[in-house]
Amino acid sequence: MKYFQPRSVSEAVELARTTESSFLAGGTDLVLHMQTGKVQPKALIDLGKIAKLREIIEAEDYLEIGSMATFAEIGQSNLVSQNAFALWQACQTMGSPQIRNKATLGGNLGNCSPAADGLPPLLALGAEVHLITREGEEIIPLASLLISTPLVPQDTLIRGFRIPRKGLQSGFAKLGRRQALAIARLSVAVAIEVKGKQVGKVSVALGAVGRRAFLSETLGLALSGQELNEAWIEKGVEEVQRVVRIALGDRASAPYKRVAVAGVFREAVASFIPEGGSMV
Ligand SMILES: Cc1cc2nc3c(=O)[nH]c(=O)nc-3n(C[C@H](O)[C@H](O)[C@H](O)COP(=O)(O)OP(=O)(O)OC[C@H]3O[C@@H](n4cnc5c(N)ncnc54)[C@H](O)[C@@H]3O)c2cc1C
Repeated sequence: MKYFQPRSVSEAVELARTTESSFLAGGTDLVLHMQTGKVQPKALIDLGKIAKLREIIEAEDYLEIGSMATFAEIGQSNLVSQNAFALWQACQTMGSPQIRNKATLGGNLGNCSPAADGLPPLLALGAEVHLITREGEEIIPLASLLISTPLVPQDTLIRGFRIPRKGLQSGFAKLGRRQALAIARLSVAVAIEVKGKQVGKVSVALGAVGRRAFLSETLGLALSGQELNEAWIEKGVEEVQRVVRIALGDRASAPYKRVAVAGVFREAVASFIPEGGSMV
């Protein structure tokens, strides 16, 4: 097998175009998949020497997180905790410290397991994905990307993520087999626009409830434009249970997840709603 270590994005994309290859980020998914024979690339394009892909930058309207930023780096960033709290939270409980030091946000999307911890927060926060394709650059909403197949063609590089800086309050919670070392069996991310005692737009994303993480339009519509109080939380619990029931149908995990999601939803909103229900 061939191994390349390009120094620039353009070099990486050109290599991907001309070889039957896989991009290598932290390798925490890819190496396992190669060991089990799930993927058998003829070449690996290691993105580790492209410093630009690691940057976390504050632009006027958005926060840009490079695809090679690790969960540890994102979880230590003040910019992320200020602008994308739910994502920051997800980074604290993802994997183990060793995994967080290697695993990248780009790899989380590239692998796109149903339980990928980075995706529900990014969805709830309205993130866009910056892709470099053979034709050029593309900025596409993550929510649209996640309903496309294939997710990203083999020669498309995930350059990074743009999270709009809209001052949203957000929170994330997950239920794992074991806190901090388990891949989430269920996760919820919520982002809200606060207007005094009212919530404006609400976005709720769920992980490990379907083939990929998804943004629930039903939940967004049911919870937007209302007073933020205990009744709002109860309505959220009821609605999220309904969405999970419909999404899982008669799968074996459905009864358990429908009950469990109530607690996970409450925990996610507790990040921004103090006990008692009111923000003011
Ligand atoms: C013990 C253990 C615990 C784990 N716990 C969790 C957990 O709690 N939560 C969780 O979400 N995940 C968990 N994972 C899974 C894994 O760590 C994550 O999915 C991680 O984010 C993958 O990132 P990576 O940098 O290692 O990607 P890699 O393994 O390097 O790549 C993954 C895939 O993405 C592609 N790719 C990578 N970067 C790019 C790019 N820039 N452009 C295009 N394609 C790209 C690769 O070609 C490959 O197909 C765990 C894994 C292990 C082994």
